[in-house]
Amino acid sequence: VAKNGGRNQYYLFQPQLKTNADNYMTLVSGLASALERRELQLHFQPQIDLPTGGVYGAEALLRWHSSELGSVPPGVFIPIAEANGLVVPIGCWVMEEAIRQAKHWVDQGYEDFVVSVNLSAIQLRDSGLAEHVAGLLDKYGLPPRNLCLEITESTAIADVETSYQICKALGEMGVKLAIDDFGTGYSSLAVLGRFPFDFIKIDRSLVEDIVTNKKDLAVIRSVVALARDLGLQVVAEGVETAAQHEMLRGLGCHEGQGYLYGRPMSREDMDDFLKRKGGCGQLGTA
Ligand code: C2E
Ligand code: MG
Ligand code: MG
Ligand code: MG
Repeated sequence: VAKNGGRNQYYLFQPQLKTNADNYMTLVSGLASALERRELQLHFQPQIDLPTGGVYGAEALLRWHSSELGSVPPGVFIPIAEANGLVVPIGCWVMEEAIRQAKHWVDQGYEDFVVSVNLSAIQLRDSGLAEHVAGLLDKYGLPPRNLCLEITESTAIADVETSYQICKALGEMGVKLAIDDFGTGYSSLAVLGRFPFDFIKIDRSLVEDIVTNKKDLAVIRSVVALARDLGLQVVAEGVETAAQHEMLRGLGCHEGQGYLYGRPMSREDMDDFLKRKGGCGQLGTA
């Protein structure tokens, strides 16, 4: 296996994995044409303001319905897109779609609504990213505070200096920043303190057992305390039960995201969801 070859070569060099290699090549060529074939779609998962129950915002999550392969989950195709340079054009498309859609919700009167976009490590190595985002915000007339960019710890650590400069520029523009999947992988508290984050998103794996596992509960309690000291807000991911919701609210988490409130949905369904639940500033009118 070639040292630097990535999955692609790994599969090609293993005859017994021929089927996987075929699959992989089908995925790569399918992804390469997914944009022009209009097979990509953004779904939006609501984020709930826990103290008030209003809709704080939504995370944009990419969906690919391939004509040959059917629905392929982002956990499968994003790493492939990253390994083949395809995440750059795809990431550009996601950013523009998300900003266009955020402007739509702001225009509907949800002026505090925040749309979150996931960034890949490769996007965070491009020193032109902040300027690119500024250009899109300008093109659609979206205030920067209505956009949040989510990065993971490993995303930031891949090239700390460039990532830091980009995040600093974005933060100074007024774009919000979140650290995603907090509590997984190689956590670096140094990155947390140094980068201009606004939100910590606690990973689903930590939220899962809080009702029964005292240790997970203790971890979340201390993350909330740490966030308070750093002046950040805490978003709990993967909230599935009312018991988890009550506990997270009691611990002082600010926002919640998970199947309990709503699954990732089309923008039309998000329109209806907002009408039913109300935005953060529109409580009582819903
Ligand atoms: P993520 O950013 O941590 O997104 C949250 C994931 O958790 C989503 O999976 C969402 O559907 C899922 N989820 C939300 N609530 C619940 C719940 O209550 N229970 C369970 N079991 N799962 C829940 P999804 O959509 O499959 O996305 C997976 C990952 O793919 C994302 O994790 C993100 O890292 C990546 N991704 C998705 N869209 C994009 C994109 O546009 N760009 C980049 N670079 N990455 C993306
Ligand atoms: Mg995310
Ligand atoms: Mg993630
Ligand atoms: Mg996450």
